[in-house]
Amino acid sequence: MAKLTRFGRTILPGMLIIAFVLVAPFRATGGEVSTDPATLKRLVSEAYNKFKDLKEGKPADYIPELAKVPPDLFGVVIVTAKGEIYTAGDVDHAFSIQSVSKPFTAALVMQEQGSQSILEKIGVEPTGLKFNSILATQILPQVSVNPLVNSGAIAAVSMVKAKTAAERFNKILDFEDRLAGAKLKVIEDVYKSEAATNQRNRAHGYILFVSDRIYSDPMEAVDVYTRQCAIGVTAKQLAVMGATLANNGVNPITKARVIDARHVPKVLALMMMAGFYNESGLWAYTAGLPAKTGVGGGIVAVVPGKMSIVGFSPRVNDAGNSVRSAKAIEYIAEQLGANVFGSGR
Ligand code: GLU
Repeated sequence: MAKLTRFGRTILPGMLIIAFVLVAPFRATGGEVSTDPATLKRLVSEAYNKFKDLKEGKPADYIPELAKVPPDLFGVVIVTAKGEIYTAGDVDHAFSIQSVSKPFTAALVMQEQGSQSILEKIGVEPTGLKFNSILATQILPQVSVNPLVNSGAIAAVSMVKAKTAAERFNKILDFEDRLAGAKLKVIEDVYKSEAATNQRNRAHGYILFVSDRIYSDPMEAVDVYTRQCAIGVTAKQLAVMGATLANNGVNPITKARVIDARHVPKVLALMMMAGFYNESGLWAYTAGLPAKTGVGGGIVAVVPGKMSIVGFSPRVNDAGNSVRSAKAIEYIAEQLGANVFGSGR
């Protein structure tokens, strides 16, 4: 009895303290996602160095101008919800935003008409098919599938309230400017190149038109969509756009509210389900972060409440996803334990 009491009073507390000291570092990695500056700085440069020599994939060439972008450009950026910026590589090179613009135009429509309007007039289901699949547009004849595939993105553009095409485009550009905290510009050569070769997107426009799923003149919507895709962003600017989502709709650099907080989870849900083209399931399974990719080589991923992680590199795989960018983001997310499905968070 006396022995047990001594064990209880002195030895047991000592053992508990030793056990706590041993376990504490592991608890830290399984809990809150770290925003420690030294950690983020290290991870950005580690991700850059690990994948900078990877040559898998090739620049998209179905838009001729994209094939001219130097294939070895590579940049990695983290912007936290508090506005700290960590970078490595080519983070100031402007590339065309392409499909990464899609969730932001959906957010603009939500701002104007509420998130229910996306559900009713476009839809939110992932297709499991390519982003420009005509078949996907025909699967759900009452809607245009979801705003992150081409048909749904063209429909989203057509929903932006405006009297003219110029007004509609300027609204989209102004919204992206506020998200990025910068004056963005169209890369005219990319716009012209895609406008001359976007017959498939015009087909989407006409299919939507004949089945009452487009809300402005269809060719005008396709043209504004094509200009939207040609907006130039740097990896750093894209990361600020993503960090605005991570910060519940407030741009962490300019401090301006751009998206209502209630719409942010809807935008992230779209990104989670359809942000990675027909590899969205794979991405959810491996990285577990809402993200959006574009054939220009940009990818933005969002760790809600914490940060955005962006990669830019023009070599894309068959699905259209930048190989180095995806690997870099996945590496950082894994090191941080940032998977949104992780119970440790
Ligand atoms: N402008 C491109 C298209 O419509 C965007 C594709 C993409 O980035 O997924 O084909």
